[in-house]
Amino acid sequence: MPIYNPGWPPNDGDAYPLIRDIAKYFPGSPKMKVSSTKRNGSADYHDFGNAVDFYDAYDNDRGSRNMREFARWLWQWRGYYLELIHSTPFADDNGFYVKLGKPVSAGFFNEPGDHLNHIHLAMSHKAATELLAKLKAAQGASPKKSSAKKSTSRKAAPKKAAAKKSYTIVAGDTLSGIADKHKTTVGNLQKLNPTITNPDYIQAGWTIRVS
Ligand SMILES: [Zn+2]
Repeated sequence: MPIYNPGWPPNDGDAYPLIRDIAKYFPGSPKMKVSSTKRNGSADYHDFGNAVDFYDAYDNDRGSRNMREFARWLWQWRGYYLELIHSTPFADDNGFYVKLGKPVSAGFFNEPGDHLNHIHLAMSHKAATELLAKLKAAQGASPKKSSAKKSTSRKAAPKKAAAKKSYTIVAGDTLSGIADKHKTTVGNLQKLNPTITNPDYIQAGWTIRVS
């Protein structure tokens, strides 16, 4: 949907598979779904395989905090974004509008309402590769797989002292409350979960490591 700079598609290969992988590192990723990747003839970054549209599976028609946090999270990781576009219905922020790595005003894209129900993210193959490497290094492992949830059976016998424990955040939780409950500290939780970039912002449904 959004415009691109004529004459400036990166032309360095399809980036959308990498962009999808980037999203898996977002702590709220279980809710994020892909609505569009490569779209030949769309005359924008989707056309070149450089854009992905994400939506929130639980709140797809009017914006959601989770989508907004995804945009904020992306911004905090300082990737080079060709376009990062998201409009929010919230009075406390104006959404996210980035063009060629720089924040622009909401009016720049001239269609903010179109991005209320999804996040449009466009990157070159090179920039997506770089950001993915940064995220991998920060986590020191592959992104959490959804199959990990199956291993949270309570009667499972403890294997080793170093076993990793995870916790799924519920409404009303705070990071310090979770830290107390698991006899650890907010600092340690952030170390275990480098993708939590703002300790004051966590959301119900995120699964985080607590040991
Ligand atoms: Zn798009």
